[in-house]
Amino acid sequence: MKRHKNKQRIIKMTTRKKVHTYVRVKPTDEFAYEMITFGEDNKSIDIHIKKDSRRGIINNQQTDWSFKLDGVLHDASQDCVYDTVAKEVVAQALDGYNGTIMCYGQTGAGKTYTMTGTTENYKHRGILPRALQQVFRMIEERPTHSITVRVSYLEICNEALFDLLSTLPYVGNSDTPMSIVESPQGIFVKGLSVHMTGREEDAFSLLFEGETNRIIASHTMNKNSSRSHCIFTIYIEAHSRSLSDEKYITSKINLVDLAGSERVGKTGSEGQILKEATYINKSLSFLEQAIIALGDRRREHVPFRQCKLTHALKDSLGGNCNMVIVANIYGDATQLDETLSSLRFASRMKLITTEPSINEKYDAERMVKNLEKELILLKQELAIHDSLANRAMVTYDPMDEIQIAEINSQVRRYLDGSLDEIDIINLRQIQEVFNQFRVILSQQEEEVEASLRRKYTLINKNDFATITAVNKAGLVDVEGNTVGETDGQGFGLGVAPFSAKPGKKGKFKKTFRDITGASTKKEGLLSPASAKDVDSLSTSRSQLLSSSKEADVKDAPSHDREASSSEPVVSDSPKEDSHTTRPGTPPPKPSAFEEFKNERGSEINRIFKQNKTILNDRRKKASETAQRINSIKKEIDSTKEALDVQKTFREEQGEYENKGLMIIDEEEFLLILKLKELKKQYRGEYQDLRDLKAEIQYCQHLVDQCRQRLLTEFDIWYKESFLIHEDVQAPLKAKGSIRLGLLPLSKLTSLVRLKMMKINLAKSKHQSSLTVPTRSLSTMPE
Ligand code: ADP
Ligand code: MG
Repeated sequence: MKRHKNKQRIIKMTTRKKVHTYVRVKPTDEFAYEMITFGEDNKSIDIHIKKDSRRGIINNQQTDWSFKLDGVLHDASQDCVYDTVAKEVVAQALDGYNGTIMCYGQTGAGKTYTMTGTTENYKHRGILPRALQQVFRMIEERPTHSITVRVSYLEICNEALFDLLSTLPYVGNSDTPMSIVESPQGIFVKGLSVHMTGREEDAFSLLFEGETNRIIASHTMNKNSSRSHCIFTIYIEAHSRSLSDEKYITSKINLVDLAGSERVGKTGSEGQILKEATYINKSLSFLEQAIIALGDRRREHVPFRQCKLTHALKDSLGGNCNMVIVANIYGDATQLDETLSSLRFASRMKLITTEPSINEKYDAERMVKNLEKELILLKQELAIHDSLANRAMVTYDPMDEIQIAEINSQVRRYLDGSLDEIDIINLRQIQEVFNQFRVILSQQEEEVEASLRRKYTLINKNDFATITAVNKAGLVDVEGNTVGETDGQGFGLGVAPFSAKPGKKGKFKKTFRDITGASTKKEGLLSPASAKDVDSLSTSRSQLLSSSKEADVKDAPSHDREASSSEPVVSDSPKEDSHTTRPGTPPPKPSAFEEFKNERGSEINRIFKQNKTILNDRRKKASETAQRINSIKKEIDSTKEALDVQKTFREEQGEYENKGLMIIDEEEFLLILKLKELKKQYRGEYQDLRDLKAEIQYCQHLVDQCRQRLLTEFDIWYKESFLIHEDVQAPLKAKGSIRLGLLPLSKLTSLVRLKMMKINLAKSKHQSSLTVPTRSLSTMPE
């Protein structure tokens, strides 16, 4: 276990990397030896001041500071600085890692000297020319790759962007106003000229051009170079010379010479200059805010877009880059306060970890070509396999319309049973077979739905308003069935033999045979199961409301029956029955059902109705709760939107922080509180809805059970009352436990014989076993 943990840590250590920070001290004749000391390993710098010597500016409680960095460059040559600071970053850029090197410090501390160096003296050239040199040297060492180098030079001054290479001829869109654009490929400055450089000398002349422009601009446009940030970028793209390698790498090295970091208070400047000074401070403080956010791994949002500098460097700060910071400081005692703040900045930078990774891309054109080659090869391979396996010519190309039509017909034949098997040929064909199954299934669904629509009006199950309205009108119960009577389960039992199916029309004989042998289910127009099948097949979200006259039959007491007796089902049946030779015409089932409900079925009917009322009530509640949830959700959304607006506004205004806490205004705070409250309400209502849904499901089950029971009992009662001769009924009733519907024919005939023998049967008052055991029909628990 322990070892496993260690292994993980090692992996992490190799992928995560700290920002490297160095301090470079500008040589001076008045080095403050008593105040600045360096650690023996040259990786720490200690500052000591005499108490109260600089009151007001430096915390008078603290007189000693110690900063641990990656290296202290004191009296270091440009050569040494480059090797320590930049060499590794540039080398890794050629392997696809982005790199950023930044110089930070007060004006005059040596940032430009470190970054660019003096152009007059080759020996004193800075990181920029040396980096270009190294890049071209390394390209020469890699003949296996075709590597292109391009450069750009951007200056940001008072939040305005300047292209320091705009004076050079450029093929790109150099006229467009510059803006920082975020694309899936990363951040880039639109309108900034990027120049291809094939040789070291070209690169140098570009650099000199940029430097000259920088100096000229500082005079002609009154741009003080100490108040601007300069970003020199080297873009590298390396393609393998071997065409089979479709991968290529890209990287960029950002070399940043930041504006002077001195504070406004100290410069004591006024007017325009003061304004500029505040600007510089602001963008550097935004840089610092971004760095703090990057250093805090709990922070999800890093405010990159607050100023042009951080926005332009968005993908070069932290992230997947190799990052190096050089803090340029004075060694003089007089500059100690600025020196301290530069060192603090550097040590904050050290807290950031980055995860350098290679920027690997794929050359689409090469990839397609390689895949085409691979495809041809694999087809040849398949052909060999087919011929070895003695398989006739099988094609592996995409199917045409005729082939697809053939598969469709195969599947249809398979479905109707005229084809036993579908031969497997290849993967494409198997996929097409499944596809055609799906096509046919959806066609059938459509057909079923269309035919149902011709017959019925469909109501959406979730449309409680319509259902309630229809309910009020007495057309359907909550499930959309005409209550307990005309739905598939209800009426089916009675209606079918008399009217629905011509083949079975009024055939009393058939009905009789059914009583004596067959299952009652068969009589139905729609058995519960089949009704359900239709429902789930085509109208899973809708329900059926009969639009024919059956729908008029309502859950009314029996004396109201006349009103609905216009229904053909009811009026037809006696006519049909008159054809039969059987003595005694049984009454039509609908009116018999009414009678039953008032008689033996009264108790179960009462329970049935009661359960339905509860179910209705719960559904209504559920619908109301759902509506409430919807409106809360809407309110949550609008509050969120308002909060976003507030947040964007705050970010645009610049964020204020106090001891690491974000300061927000009251309006935003109230919105947050409101959102919290709404979320709480939402959760509460949601829980209620879930409980209600569970209850509804339970109630539904009870209602179904009751209805089934009501119908079964009715059927038995009907047969018992009207279809079997009185004399036969008596012994059956006496037996008590025998269910008529299940009585075998032999038993019945023997009973008839018994009647013939005029055996006097006991007329004792019986307790019918057909009474619904109320126990199993208990009403819903509240
Ligand atoms: P910054 O860019 O930070 O404002 P500069 O790089 O322009 O500062 O430096 C100011 C002056 O100090 C320049 O004349 C520069 O040549 C000189 N200077 C800075 N650092 C060094 C150094 N390490 N060695 C020699 N001269 C330096
Ligand atoms: Mg400078």
